[in-house]
Amino acid sequence: MSVGGKCYFYTQFQGGGSMAKPNLRPDHNGTQRAQFESNKKKIYASQTVCGICGKPVDFGLKFPHPLSPCIDHIIPVSRNGHPSDISNLQLAHMCCNRQKSDKLTPKQEFAKETEVVSNRLLPQTFDWKTL
Ligand SMILES: [Zn+2]
Repeated sequence: MSVGGKCYFYTQFQGGGSMAKPNLRPDHNGTQRAQFESNKKKIYASQTVCGICGKPVDFGLKFPHPLSPCIDHIIPVSRNGHPSDISNLQLAHMCCNRQKSDKLTPKQEFAKETEVVSNRLLPQTFDWKTL
């Protein structure tokens, strides 16, 4: 099952609050959704390696596993990257995508620590200690 990747998922979850904003991105809820989903399928079908860490992605892993496949925006939507154009999308591990997101929001201070972790983003049904 292991793909040999090492992702600092726990650290990231405790460190930042950049995911705490409302899910209002156009690729998730708006008109870009259909194109995003279409391109997501193309990427899943054509790419096998995480675009962030360069290690293989195991498509047998499912959300919310930290190494499960996800689609990363090469230029974040929050930085005016295209939300659904395939040229701005790449395959990534969920945890790598998360880690990258934190790095790209340097204005976020880490003073809030763990209290900003949202239950919505950390499913309680998953036993994280088994990873
Ligand atoms: Zn990765």
